[in-house]
Amino acid sequence: LRHEMLQNVRGMRDLMPDDVWKLRFIEGNARRLAELYGYEEVITPIIEHYELLAAKVGEETRKRMYAFVDLGGRKVALRPEFTASIARLVITRMVAAPKPIRLFSFGSLYRYDEPQLGRYREFWQANYELIGSSRPEADVEILCLTNDFLRGLGLRNYTIKVNHIGVLRGILLHEGVPEDGQNAIMQALDKKDWEGAMSLAKSLGVGDACLETLRSIIGIRGYDESTFINEVSNTIKAYPEAISALENFRRTLELSERSGLKAQLYFEAGFARGLEYYTGIIFEAYVPELDIAICGGGRYDRLVESFGGGPLPAIGVAFGVDRIMLAMEKQGISPSRPPRKRVLIIPLDCGLLAEAIKLAGMLRENGIPSEVEVMGRNLSRALSDGSRRDITHAVIIGPKEFSEGKIVFRDMRGKVQEDIRIGDLPAKICPKSSSHRS
Ligand code: AMP
Repeated sequence: LRHEMLQNVRGMRDLMPDDVWKLRFIEGNARRLAELYGYEEVITPIIEHYELLAAKVGEETRKRMYAFVDLGGRKVALRPEFTASIARLVITRMVAAPKPIRLFSFGSLYRYDEPQLGRYREFWQANYELIGSSRPEADVEILCLTNDFLRGLGLRNYTIKVNHIGVLRGILLHEGVPEDGQNAIMQALDKKDWEGAMSLAKSLGVGDACLETLRSIIGIRGYDESTFINEVSNTIKAYPEAISALENFRRTLELSERSGLKAQLYFEAGFARGLEYYTGIIFEAYVPELDIAICGGGRYDRLVESFGGGPLPAIGVAFGVDRIMLAMEKQGISPSRPPRKRVLIIPLDCGLLAEAIKLAGMLRENGIPSEVEVMGRNLSRALSDGSRRDITHAVIIGPKEFSEGKIVFRDMRGKVQEDIRIGDLPAKICPKSSSHRS
């Protein structure tokens, strides 16, 4: 095989045992949080029809999809996000389900992004969708869940950047800019290309007064909610659709404050997100140590309907697990792996191999992780290999002891050993669990 073929494909990573442990730790927390909030887990396929995934995902993500024709001639793609799959699932299998529907997913996603720190072509998300309610309390639930997720992992000093996309869309709608024109402007704003967004608006026929309004709106940002709402409100007086969006935003913010949401919020009126389907509140969370979002979410009230389902408002959030791992690392949060017992069984001669394998089986039945020496090493080499691999106990099977129903039991940390009866082994290794079992 050519040497290059042994390299990972660009943007693809191997996760080594410690990485996997961290990823599964976050996954476990995510799943517990789903349970606490009443979200049921679903697993949808990684491969979906290209058209489904491409329909509303936004130009930027669309052109980065891993799309291909399968052997049956279908145009398919690897999912770049969960929401389209969830919308499909709700339309096809949950039409009659009582509302709201709360769904949780965890898995890998694929985007042909330019690889850099925290940006990969295969990455992991924990995703939550709350479907069926357009009310501020649903928005607040997702904000609270977001805060609990990040705080629950021990992250500190994070900021949740929020906006209501209905304000910008309301202005553009009033000015007669069609939806695909609006989407293009949102994409530019998402990339913080303010000038690009302004010239796009101009080319789409937006008048001078409205351009002025847009320019002012884009500049409004800050940590203080009432200042923000007032400034935006003063700027959009001529746009009724934007006014009602802002009022909806204000009600959500007020409810979240009264409900005791203790996250640091940052308001930015020119903040848009790349995915096309957002209609209401949108948000992203950041830690000071990384300049990339660790999660993102928002309200999408027309996505399900646009796929041919009934009108079904919804809001969701996706946590970028890889970036959260990075953020935890940067903040010095390393969840400690609980201490584990690990037993190595070493037969002193080949004639005792079957006994060693049987003994390992007996220990595993008692819930004790056990490995048999399979390299044919002698005792001292096997023991030193065991120390290197964090083996906590060694069980040495010698012909003489074995004929008396005993083995040599060695505590690898204390480096002490004693002869004990085979039947006493589980209790010796795990005093509590084996007494519990007997
Ligand atoms: P999005 O679906 O673009 O809103 O992404 C939601 C979250 O997924 C982001 O906030 C990131 O944390 C994470 N994410 C998106 N793209 C990538 C990527 N290429 N690599 C790693 N994480 C990503």
